[in-house]
Amino acid sequence: MVVVGSLNMDLVVRVERLPLPGETVLGEDYQTYPGGKGANQAVAAARLGARVRMVGRIGQDSFGRTLLASLAAEGVDVEGVAAVPGPTGVAFILVDAKGQNAIAVAPGANARFGPEDLAEKDFETVQLLVVQLEIPWPTVARAMARARARGARVLLNAAPARLLPEEAWRLADVLVVNEPEAATLTQRDPPAGPPEALDVARALARRVQLAVVTLGAQGAVWAGAAGEGHEPAFSVPVVDATAAGDAFVGGLAVALAEGWPLPRAVRFANACGALAVTRPGAQPSLPRREDAVALLERHPGAR
Ligand code: ADP
Repeated sequence: MVVVGSLNMDLVVRVERLPLPGETVLGEDYQTYPGGKGANQAVAAARLGARVRMVGRIGQDSFGRTLLASLAAEGVDVEGVAAVPGPTGVAFILVDAKGQNAIAVAPGANARFGPEDLAEKDFETVQLLVVQLEIPWPTVARAMARARARGARVLLNAAPARLLPEEAWRLADVLVVNEPEAATLTQRDPPAGPPEALDVARALARRVQLAVVTLGAQGAVWAGAAGEGHEPAFSVPVVDATAAGDAFVGGLAVALAEGWPLPRAVRFANACGALAVTRPGAQPSLPRREDAVALLERHPGAR
């Protein structure tokens, strides 16, 4: 699969509780983790057994070099990742004692990744394209159109939250959003529970083949041409929710690429998301295939 998207260095501080506006809270020693939704999803899929090509931009700095080396060490093909002048993208992440986070992103090189920077060879073998919204929209749209022209399927994780231009709906086959992102897309309040979220998924699925809404500790709902359903989350101790969504997207992408039936594919994605919340950091918390499969099979509802 091909992932076109962001690479960030995550600077993480654990705090007792998230600060209010104007407030200073003291945290523990900060830690650095490779991150960015694009890179996280590429690593998630690679750890789950997929062959993945990452396409993106880093700065000509030490963060960029570290990100490239860590992606390559995960077995991700990084030929489509180039270094450009200016800083690498950085995410400033606060995580509280309950595992909730607040994030500010300085996009750096990700913001300077234009549609003209996409190379035809990045799409030569694409069967599934995975994109998010942390690089400029015209670049995402061009990547989607290129993948489509080659007959590939396109999975759009519409994160961070924003309204989508009309062409996004035309170019996406699969749409994955969390509750706040779903609320933004539908211009409604966030769904109150799985039944309301399923309604939202149905509404989104009128415009794409498959719409999936992730619900944190309540799992995920899906709706589309192949049916609909709610798959509850796996019960796990929460350490750090960072990258749960990326683990979910990576898991869903791998399962779809392998042609799994939908309920099981969503369950597998839930298992990946659940494992990610049990460990700190973004990429370090992403599960390996054997762990995700073991959790999937251990659960009484597995099928
Ligand atoms: P995001 O990380 O984008 O906010 P969610 O919070 O919806 O997205 O999490 C994505 C997926 O990760 C969920 O659908 C679920 O499968 C899993 N997940 C998240 N939080 C938990 C949790 N507390 N317990 C179990 N699984 C979780």
